Amino acid sequence: MDAQTASTFVIEAHNLVKRYGDVTALAGVSAEVQRGEIFGILGPNGAGKTTLVEVLEGLTRPTEGTARVLGVEVTQDPVAVKARIGVQLQAASYHQFLTLREILELFGSFYPKRIPAMELLERVHLAERAGARIGTLSGGMKQRFSIVAALVNDPELVFFDEPTAGLDPDARLDLWEIVRQVRDAGATVVLTTHYMEEAQALCDRVAFMNAGKMVALDTPAGLIRSLNAPYRVMATSATPLSEAGVRGLPGAAEVEVALGADGHIVRLRAQDAPAVTAALTALADREGVRLVDLAVQPASLEDVFMNITGRKLSG
Ligand code: ATP
Repeated sequence: MDAQTASTFVIEAHNLVKRYGDVTALAGVSAEVQRGEIFGILGPNGAGKTTLVEVLEGLTRPTEGTARVLGVEVTQDPVAVKARIGVQLQAASYHQFLTLREILELFGSFYPKRIPAMELLERVHLAERAGARIGTLSGGMKQRFSIVAALVNDPELVFFDEPTAGLDPDARLDLWEIVRQVRDAGATVVLTTHYMEEAQALCDRVAFMNAGKMVALDTPAGLIRSLNAPYRVMATSATPLSEAGVRGLPGAAEVEVALGADGHIVRLRAQDAPAVTAALTALADREGVRLVDLAVQPASLEDVFMNITGRKLSG
């Protein structure tokens, strides 16, 4: 292994810009992806996720900037990069008249290094469907197949494009496990997703994109910790707490009091959830109010995205 291949970074992107006429799809993106991580790219429609991935895959030339992928400058030698990466295609892109096994054998024939078709199908529990055509598979099976179809050349780096789009929760959990196995077997995974829970559960690090820019990049926990008040606290009581008392709780932010179907509700945000809940409980004791419920929830990646961009990621 030479020094470049041994680098801890499998992707080093510097100031990538991509313009389509008047549209700036990428407005100067720099990022490094570490060897062996699952790296998630999140952002609303039109944020530039697909464009970024296509540049890194050697499918699109950037207008400006550079990208080293597996130690190779991708715009100068896209063929060398393509041999060593895997790219997940949408199910509709596969040959409809070939069997699963035939598709994998055909894909494998393009590469000097390849994994046998049956071994790949076994990895995603599709060996017994080796003779089936793609159109006869369920949505979850199609997605599982599209994952292994990206692994025929035993790639060092794999790109998954919304790998669980449209799947039910069980099928999504199956897919997450398969993606983790790909990472645990030694590959680096870059995936795009619209699902915040997916990024939070699956990704080692997450990049948020918005309007062609990478606006945040960290571990999911690091992104959440970056918020001023990363916990939501909600208390319910049969009789109301004094509003002044609740608003005066040290460390409480964005305090709301309301009357709901279950009783009087206090909602607030906190940096230090144990301290604020202790102060809230003490206040209730002093005022003779019995709390019937007290819940603490960490902020989500959605909250982080809102905080950075002022807009919701989903919907
Ligand atoms: P989605 O989540 O909807 O897939 P995305 O984050 O992947 O969105 P891109 O597909 O990268 O976003 O698009 C970024 C911007 O560039 C959009 O405004 C899009 O319309 C524009 N764009 C992308 N490809 C082209 C193209 N081939 N020609 C012209 N404009 C393009």
